[in-house]
Amino acid sequence: MTAQVIDGKAFAAEVRGKVAEHVARLKEKHDLVPGLAVVLVGEDPASEVYVRSKGKQTTEVGMKSVEHKLDADTSEADLLALIDQLNKDDSINGILVQLPLPGHLDEDLVINSIDPAKDVDGFHISNVGLLGTGQKSMVPCTPLGCLMMLREHHGSLSGMNAVVIGRSNIVGKPMAQLLLGDSCTVTIAHSRTKDLADVVRRADIVVAAVGRPEMVPGDWIKEGATVIDVGINRIEKDDGKTKLVGDVDYASCAERAGAITPVPGGVGPMTIACLLANTLTATCRANGLEEPEGLTA
Ligand code: NDP
Repeated sequence: MTAQVIDGKAFAAEVRGKVAEHVARLKEKHDLVPGLAVVLVGEDPASEVYVRSKGKQTTEVGMKSVEHKLDADTSEADLLALIDQLNKDDSINGILVQLPLPGHLDEDLVINSIDPAKDVDGFHISNVGLLGTGQKSMVPCTPLGCLMMLREHHGSLSGMNAVVIGRSNIVGKPMAQLLLGDSCTVTIAHSRTKDLADVVRRADIVVAAVGRPEMVPGDWIKEGATVIDVGINRIEKDDGKTKLVGDVDYASCAERAGAITPVPGGVGPMTIACLLANTLTATCRANGLEEPEGLTA
């Protein structure tokens, strides 16, 4: 079997198109422009690239984009004061603090100081709790993007066996909650899991979020399974140049899977599209308006 490629780039463009249409309607009918504020502390080059890309895509869908770039030695009090100001600003519907933060800042404290209704990353402890109890919440962007791709490909996920490899708070755990919410039978695997190959072979859906280049070989994949590769790893090629690869060995997995996401061009583009979707959702909720269909969990 040769897997169908799930084109995250094309699907993300579709999602952004839906967001842009909804944003245009909000402006026309309600004179509302959703606003997203991104806070970057320090000068991590990878984070700067993400933040630029987020800002560009935010304005492209018709939203207001605000960037706050703070020095690496910004004090916790100053950062919390900025978040407080953004929490109170009615023109801002979404707040994202780019992680990781410099070591002297307490990430949990900072994230939990964001108004949960504006927490478009879905990392605030209230949103984690709401998701865990199956209530309406802001859902972390990467797992939301994975869920959207799975729903688009399969329609219903009910009754499927899903294995999530990785148990981080930003990907693995919320991904498992979302799959459970869609009535999958979910296994969460991690570095202490015994016989990982056997566990993965039982899965109709495999979500790999490990951070280890090409760790999952094709012979772990059940014939016809759907493989969602969250990993983004930069590796050096024989010629000394670098390339991006995922957490699964694409070539061998694509021979057995029914469908698979590529890296790059799979989960990555969906993550920013879902950030925009979450900002739109937050704006609708804050103004008591109907939420956009198909853009939330
Ligand atoms: P973390 O490092 O926070 O978590 C990795 C998880 O993988 C841990 O739960 C760890 O287990 C588990 N793990 C590590 N080694 C093994 C192993 N040998 N077997 C089984 N499980 C293992 O990573 P993140 O969740 O933050 O990210 C995972 C990947 O996804 C990274 O490549 C990251 O770059 C990428 N990513 C991509 C995004 C996108 O937009 N596409 C967004 C976010 C992340 P344990 O808990 O036991 O240590």
